[in-house]
Amino acid sequence: MSPVMGQPADPTLYPHLLAPLDLGFTTLRNRVLMGSMHTGLEDRAADFPKLARYFAERAEGGVALIVTGGFSPDIAGWLKPFGGKLSWRWETRRHRPVTDAVHAHDAKICLQLLHAGRYAYHPLQVAPSRLKAPINPFTPRALRARGVERTIDAYAHAAKLAREAGYDGVEIMGSEGYLINQFLSARTNRRQDRWGGDVLQRMRFATEIVRRVREAAGHDFILIYRLSMLELVPDGSGWDEIVQQARAIEAAGATLLNTGIGWHEARVPTIATSVPRAAFAGVTAKLRPHVKLPLVATNRINMPDVAERVLAAGGADMVSMARPLLADPHWVAKARAGTPARINTCIACNQACLDHVFANRTASCLVNPRACAETELNYFPAAAPLRIAVVGAGPAGLACATVAAQRGHRVVLFDAADAIGGQFNLARRIPGKEEFNETLRYFGQRIAETGVDLRLSTPVTADDLAGFDVVVLATGVRPRAIDIPGHDHPKVVGYVDVLEGRVVPGARVAIIGAGGIGFDVGEFLVEGHGPSPSLDPAAWMREWGVDPSFERPGGLVTAAPSPPAREVWLLQRSPGRPGARLGKTTGWIHRSTLKAKGVQMLGGVAYLGVDDAGLRIRVDDSEQLLPVDHVVVCAGQEPRRDLLDALQAAGRVVHLVGGADVAAELDAKRAIAQASALAARL
Ligand code: FAD
Ligand code: NAP
Ligand code: SF4
Repeated sequence: MSPVMGQPADPTLYPHLLAPLDLGFTTLRNRVLMGSMHTGLEDRAADFPKLARYFAERAEGGVALIVTGGFSPDIAGWLKPFGGKLSWRWETRRHRPVTDAVHAHDAKICLQLLHAGRYAYHPLQVAPSRLKAPINPFTPRALRARGVERTIDAYAHAAKLAREAGYDGVEIMGSEGYLINQFLSARTNRRQDRWGGDVLQRMRFATEIVRRVREAAGHDFILIYRLSMLELVPDGSGWDEIVQQARAIEAAGATLLNTGIGWHEARVPTIATSVPRAAFAGVTAKLRPHVKLPLVATNRINMPDVAERVLAAGGADMVSMARPLLADPHWVAKARAGTPARINTCIACNQACLDHVFANRTASCLVNPRACAETELNYFPAAAPLRIAVVGAGPAGLACATVAAQRGHRVVLFDAADAIGGQFNLARRIPGKEEFNETLRYFGQRIAETGVDLRLSTPVTADDLAGFDVVVLATGVRPRAIDIPGHDHPKVVGYVDVLEGRVVPGARVAIIGAGGIGFDVGEFLVEGHGPSPSLDPAAWMREWGVDPSFERPGGLVTAAPSPPAREVWLLQRSPGRPGARLGKTTGWIHRSTLKAKGVQMLGGVAYLGVDDAGLRIRVDDSEQLLPVDHVVVCAGQEPRRDLLDALQAAGRVVHLVGGADVAAELDAKRAIAQASALAARL
């Protein structure tokens, strides 16, 4: 856990993290690599000024080496139609402002070369063999031998162009199941020519790319190779093959070896919030004795103490972080100043970054709505300071109060509760959501830094708000009551009482409502009393079937989830599979977790009533009695805006943000973004 606020600054906290790294022909100023992450800004030339500003803020914030989102070396390798590509000289022009902006802050930047292969979301896709990916509707065309040669040349040409565009190097994306991985793996490479067959033949494509890129771009050019060190797919590479690949890539001329964990089609989470911090650092460390190249560790490294521990253990020479630098562009500067409590920590929710990208929207960040909007959302000093009352210290109120105070307004923040956080105080109790504590720590720190006058345990009425120029109601939501026979039976309880521990449900429980909160409550109920697997890497690997020795093919063994603490039914009225509306990149994890614990998930349910025998329901025209001890209601929420009418009647300037504005489809991403945007305008 990161140090608490108020701890004195200690710049010597992270000696390994902040040490320079000599690459021979150039030196990196510290051990932080900003990992490649597609933001959507790479895909349109018109967005490159925004991309330049986005990277410039991270360079200014102290990161040593940035890797861009993926650019394909040719059209077939586009991630999606007209996605980022670098294959023509005229395309280099748009990159110059990006590389100049980064160099102006003494950081270095590499362009990632990513050929999507059979993961490309368009009909022009190619692959080593004609095998459709389970996560893509398109079937690839198998490359002919000449096509393979042309593709390798395209990589070399793109690297040369990257150099002309001012990049310090390239990263060759050899993992996550993209084209190079598809050549490497017997699972996807069924070729009989010199590019398929035994491991040496399958490796040839990767090593030829590295060799020809090195030849084309010169020896004083950083060449990072992202090596698939743990594939997490059935029939994936075993450890011996991975070591062989690493040595071949080293011999072919790479400068740095970055770690790739899992293919996109893997059914083991690799970066979600429920994955323990640095869970996969052991994979990189296992490779350490086998190569001389500097190694980069990745995945769920989000705070300096975690990064320092990984580096100090000697298993890696750098750490790669992508999302943590979306969340806080000044992450490195804050580590350097010895003030980690000031870091806005990435909570690994994926809600505004990956979920956006997969929905074809520009990435941003739940905890930092300025990410990728640096040219649009700015917190400039206010023209005239106002007296602002913010009622409610949930995510919306916290964001609004701290941004307004940062801009120079005089802000009083009220909450009826005795702690800041609103519903985040419930979310953080869910096993696997421990990272939400970090957001509360960060906002606590921001309140102190910006001089917000915080008044806890203060339920506010309209009369208390006289004397303020502006009132912001961030009073959140109240849980929706249900109207079914027996709704007032003692078995029927609300999720707040359960999560706050006022009710301890019995051995059999039905949950009414299968939205995000219903799923979370399900996880809370089935988890036992021990530490959450997200805090115990060994237990987490058992739950998900990851081979702790990383030796087996694909790094997989049979999953052995611990038995559920209760028998649970998760119900919804709408037809179809519960959880279909959960986050694109994380919904499957919640569904798998509950399935592994035997939770029965039913859609199309009619609630007939609750009585001493349990919950009576009708599904598919047949009536059933669920013999439960408790029924936990997670049926959504209604806005809480009791103060609005009185304030408006008194002619006050009132704004609504977060759940107080709209409770339907509310999440913290919307609450924080809306509140920050309002505070930027006041
Ligand atoms: P709230 O968080 O509800 O805060 C409102 C605050 O106002 C409260 O602290 C309350 O005490 C205070 N208040 C109300 N009336 C008064 C008054 N008259 N005087 C003083 N104070 C008052 N969202 C996500 O994006 N991702 C998740 O993974 C996620 N997980 C969740 C898990 C759980 C178990 C729960 C319950 C919620 C989760 N959410 C998640 C939802 C998220 O927490 C909410 O969307 C968010 O908290 C809404 O923020 P808000 O500031 O609008 O309201
Ligand atoms: P929600 O997603 O709107 O789900 C409410 C559930 O209650 C639905 O399953 C709905 O399904 C059911 N319901 C609605 N009205 C009902 C009624 N009158 N009687 C019985 N059932 C009813 O809301 P939530 O689960 O409370 O979550 C609130 C918000 O928090 C969500 O929008 C979500 O974005 C956010 N959140 C996010 C996460 C995350 O991991 N990203 C986690 C938790 C919460 P039917 O109408 O089909 O019955
Ligand atoms: Fe991290 Fe969530 Fe922000 Fe993505 S949206 S960078 S996962 S905090």
